Amino acid sequence: MTKAYPFNRPTLAGSEVEAILDAIERRHISGNGSYTKQCHNWLQNYIRGSKALLTHSCTAALEMSGILAGLEPGDEVIMPSFTFTSTANAFVLRRATPVFVDVREDTLNIDETLIEAAITPKTKAICVVHYAGVAAEMDAIMSIAARHGLFVIEDAAQAMFATYKGRPLGSIGHMSAFSFHETKNIMSGEGGALIVNDPSLRERSEIIWEKGTDRAKFERGEVAKYSWVDVGSSFLPSDIIAAFLLKQLESGAEITRSRLEIWNRYQTAFQHKHNAGVARCPTIPSHCAHNGHIFFLLVSEACERDRVLARARAENVSSIIHYVPLHSAPAGLRFGRLGSTMAVTDSIASRLIRLPLHVQLDEGDQSYIIDVMTRALENAPATV
Ligand SMILES: *Cc1c(COP(=O)(O)O)cnc(C)c1O
Repeated sequence: MTKAYPFNRPTLAGSEVEAILDAIERRHISGNGSYTKQCHNWLQNYIRGSKALLTHSCTAALEMSGILAGLEPGDEVIMPSFTFTSTANAFVLRRATPVFVDVREDTLNIDETLIEAAITPKTKAICVVHYAGVAAEMDAIMSIAARHGLFVIEDAAQAMFATYKGRPLGSIGHMSAFSFHETKNIMSGEGGALIVNDPSLRERSEIIWEKGTDRAKFERGEVAKYSWVDVGSSFLPSDIIAAFLLKQLESGAEITRSRLEIWNRYQTAFQHKHNAGVARCPTIPSHCAHNGHIFFLLVSEACERDRVLARARAENVSSIIHYVPLHSAPAGLRFGRLGSTMAVTDSIASRLIRLPLHVQLDEGDQSYIIDVMTRALENAPATV
């Protein structure tokens, strides 16, 4: 049988099963048990003080952020189009309109210089995405938001263990959402967390999390009984998931180190293709520390990409494309509108190739992948 080189393989820390058994033994299997609390403490410590709430997905955390931002029908949320559907869906569920702004050529993150022109009296929030764990330009974005009285929501789904000017991503906006989906660096199968950095949103975040009740206050002994006080939903994961996640978080620094090693090996291996203008490697600004979430190459044209992907596939290497831009997707056309031209988004989305990257990728396997990709890129027309 020929060996396959999958794009991703979920990494286990090793102690997850033991923690899950312990969670079951404790007989608190629903949400907000001891492992959930330990994850909250871990995240709050990591993010340096803010409130953390585990959710069953990053999508759920983004939906909570839409409720917390007080979005009303017709309100607008500025965001990139080069992202996952949840970035927009979470706000469309509140009947808000996603306003798509183009991305930067270098980091593929929202182009902060185009944001201000997209602001209208209906704009309520800016949702940034830290693509591949590389930070959006948060200083500029936070000051635009302050000038216009807008919330900044970080879709930090890919950004665990990445920083911007030394600050952890997820700690800068008013609210942030992490993903612990199996495809992310730190995972619990499905999972996520909402980070609430704005102190004025903290109390309400607990209520929304607990199905619209003040149960958190009740648990702290602040009220004699809990009751229905606001809108909300069931956003908590079971403590079994939290037990799994805690072990992942505790191994996170090590997992990130391994990923960065693999990422750096790719960067070195493809530097000559980059220099020759055949395939561009990622750009990491010097004030950003990334987390090795994605290694991509930007080839010259869409037709070129299809040829390269087919050649890789023929040699069992699962290199894959990434987002189909939201602005031109059927639901994007129906629910969103353009806040700028989409020239960069359309161009990069049609040229991007992601290479296999997971902790179980050993040096031999990676050398094979590099060799296959290098040959697949041969005779490729130079990028402009
Ligand atoms: C993965 C991802 C999500 C969704 O995360 P889930 O935990 O699967 O809901 C949202 N936004 C971005 C940018 C992502 O990469």
